Amino acid sequence: MATYAKDLDLPDLAPGWVWLAGAGPGDPGLVTLLTMHALGQADVVVYDALVDERVLALAGPGATLEFAGKRGGKPSPSQRDISARLVELAAHQGKRVLRLKGGDPFVFGRGGEEALALVRAGVPFRVVPGITAGVGGLAYAGIPTTHRETNSAVTFITGHGSSGEVPDGLDWEALARGAPVLVIYMALKHLDVIVRRLLAAGRAEAEPVAVISRATTPAQRVLESTLGRVAAEVRAGGLQPPALVVVGPVVALRSALDWLGALETEAPAGDGRSRTG
Ligand code: SAH
Repeated sequence: MATYAKDLDLPDLAPGWVWLAGAGPGDPGLVTLLTMHALGQADVVVYDALVDERVLALAGPGATLEFAGKRGGKPSPSQRDISARLVELAAHQGKRVLRLKGGDPFVFGRGGEEALALVRAGVPFRVVPGITAGVGGLAYAGIPTTHRETNSAVTFITGHGSSGEVPDGLDWEALARGAPVLVIYMALKHLDVIVRRLLAAGRAEAEPVAVISRATTPAQRVLESTLGRVAAEVRAGGLQPPALVVVGPVVALRSALDWLGALETEAPAGDGRSRTG
């Protein structure tokens, strides 16, 4: 056991338990100590497509890695199948199960549904938060999530509802009026519609927007644009998912705070400093 786990008296992932844990947005340096500890102890790691392979590589040699996501155009296993699999592994096989999700398990990650299934089946579990992409990704793009002069609120939105369309339940008028900074997950597919709704509800075409693709990984790319131009520029720019869209005045701070970009231009190749630390 790593000494930090002993020194800090971290709880152990016990047989028959499930830890529903966040892997952070990509950079393995952003994994929490609890998730790290569970990676070392798990018999089975059931992971999603968004979990970075460098994080999976931290699993102990005895751990089985089980993929539970969409791959190669094949349909993804249903949420019910995944929940049933967790119950099977923990309750019936007595395994130490690490259910690992990108970012934070309770932020647009369906962690709540899996936790409810564990409750129903009487399986003991712990939830380990992770750094959500909407916070970690902004930090790596040099965009503060809140900033005293510009916004005292921030709103996380999903651009993709359970039906696959822009979520019906969103009140765009209210968002346009009351949400100075919007951090939109799963926004690329319906970006046209989202932008149109925000403009129709009164947001300005000139408002700064950033699209952060593959945040905190070596492939991170950031597109700076405006609400009026962003949909066309994303189409032209070929940005890869996963990506976040940030709308609001905090985006303008990036011109001064892009520490990662500065690191890249300043650091001569081979001095040991890499893009994502
Ligand atoms: N539970 C995750 C979110 C899952 S929803 C979390 O807390 O981060 C999936 C969406 O998250 C993606 O469509 C994208 O909008 C965002 N996302 C996750 N990882 C990302 C990354 N490395 N870079 C940019 N966006 C990311």
